[in-house]
Formats: sequence, structure tokens, C-alpha cells
Amino acid sequence: MKKSKVVVFGSFVMDLMARGPHLPRPAESVKGTMFQMGPGGKGFNQCVAAHKAGAEVTMVTKLGRDSFADVALDTMKELNMSSEHILYTDQVSTATALVVVDENTAQNQIMVIPGSLNTITADEVAGIESLIKEAEYLLIQLEVNQDANELVVDMAEKYGCKVIMNLAPYSPVSDAFLAKAYMVTPNEVEAEGMTGIVVSDTESAKKAADILREKGIEIVVITLGSRGAFISTKDRAELVPAFKVNAQDTTGAGDAFNGGLLAALSEGKDIWEAARFASALAALSVQKKGAAVSMPWRNEIEDFLAAQK
Ligand code: ADP
Repeated sequence: MKKSKVVVFGSFVMDLMARGPHLPRPAESVKGTMFQMGPGGKGFNQCVAAHKAGAEVTMVTKLGRDSFADVALDTMKELNMSSEHILYTDQVSTATALVVVDENTAQNQIMVIPGSLNTITADEVAGIESLIKEAEYLLIQLEVNQDANELVVDMAEKYGCKVIMNLAPYSPVSDAFLAKAYMVTPNEVEAEGMTGIVVSDTESAKKAADILREKGIEIVVITLGSRGAFISTKDRAELVPAFKVNAQDTTGAGDAFNGGLLAALSEGKDIWEAARFASALAALSVQKKGAAVSMPWRNEIEDFLAAQK
């Protein structure tokens, strides 16, 4: 099978998670019961998902010079991923997310410190030109400085590299930027942010998808959690249902799905086949705790799909 090369340009974030009997009030110090840390960030999760699914994918992100950067690099090495195009700064720290969870109510408080992810320069984007030139698809999110996203998308356009935009976490972007997307993959919240339509079912997803397609986007994929993904193309619009599984942890479901889409598209699968593959990948990932660490390997995805027949 001939696979094309693909690039994920986005975030690595070190997730630091603490659980305790209640969330701290201002100035209160609470004795917690559990601490866990692990590699995350939407870009990284999506890249790991695509890589483990068999894609020839390159990660571009920016790290500090600190021990969290070492975690990123060690994880990539363990998974046999290339770190050749990782960027560094010694001015600020690697991006972190501090997550505090109330173990009784599961409510949380999250503080994200973008650090290195806010510092990608025009020269650094120019430095990946040869990578973008050779790639068929570029997948981006909204966790790095937006001017860098704009530059890399323009570069992709110049070389005919198709851009998949996962505009998460949602913040407004210009219509001119959106129109450069070959595909967008919002969840319900992001689709509402992009269109003003409250997306809750297939019908509202179709309305939102129509608006997005009118903005010049060829393929719109709106993910609807355990219901599946609504997909709209020039000649077909329908729901690709999710697989019924016993979900343990749905954080990162969207990342799993995006990584799966990227991997399948790079093998020349059409969007409908790719969405089925991505749904299987996501269904496997939600059955395990964690984001990057819960992404399944290619053989697990194939076995899962074969067992559905
Ligand atoms: P996000 O994490 O960005 O909010 P979604 O929750 O919409 O993304 O999930 C993305 C995809 O993951 C869905 O389209 C579906 O295929 C799959 N998925 C999500 N939750 C479940 C679940 N509980 N069971 C099976 N598949 C799921």
C-alpha cells in the first residue's frame, strides 16, 4: 500500500493531574489523594493516534528546555516517532496543563500554560517548508500562536498540501483562514462557535455543515460524541454512527478520531471509509484511561473492525 506523507503542526502539553476530596477554594491548601502526569496536547495526541494507526506522520511542535520536554522526546522515542522537526526555546517552559479533580463530583479546574507553544516564529515555520512540500495532508489545531498557524496553512496552500483544521479549543478565526481548509472537524461546541447553530443532532449538524461548506470548505465532519460523526461532502451528507462500546474515559476521543482520519486518508481511503476507521480508533481509545497513552495500534483497529462484520 502506498501511503502519502502527512504532518501534524500543533501542541505538546504536559498534563499534570491531581485528585482530592474537594476543589481548593482561593488560598486553601487541600491534601490530595492522587497525582498523575502524562504527555498530552491535542497535536501530540492526534499525531500519536495517526502514527500508531500506521501513518507516515511527522510531528511539529515547540518545547522548552526542561524535563517535560524530555518526557515528550522519550515518549516519541519509545513509540519510534521522529523528533527531527521538534522546535525548542530556552526562554519559556514547555506547555503544561494543571488539572485538579474533585473525586466525589468529578468536577475539575484546569489551568493551561501555553509557554513554548506561544512562541513559534515565522523563521521556524519557514524551516519546515520541505516537509510541507512533500506532504499530502497537514493537520492543525488551535493550541499554538495563531500567526504560526496562518503561515503554515499558507505554505500548505502554496504546495497543494490539503489542510485539515481541528479548530479546538474553539476560538474565532477569520473566514479567509477557514476557506483555506480542505476539511474541518469540529465537535458540537466548536461547530456552534463556528456557525451560531446549536448542534445537538443530525438535523442541526446538517445545518451547521451547510454553512461551513458555503464558506468554501470541501468536507465538513462534525463529531457528535457517542452518536458518531456527521459528514457532509459535495454529493453526500450523512451520519457515520459511533461503535457501541463501554466507555471509560472520553477525553481525547476527538483527538483519536482526528488522528484516525489523517492516517486513513493518507492511505487513499475515501472520507466514508476513513471515518469508519477513525470511529473504530476512537471507540478503542475511550475504553482506556488517558489520552495519548490510550491510542490503539494498527492491529487492534483492524481486529476491532473485522469483529464488527
Ligand atoms: P471531542 O472529544 O472533540 O468532544 P467527540 O466526543 O465528538 O469529540 O468524539 C469524537 C468521536 O469519537 C465521535 O465521533 C465517535 O466516533 C467517537 N466517540 C466519542 N465518544 C464515544 C463513545 N462513548 N463511544 C464510542 N465512540 C465514541
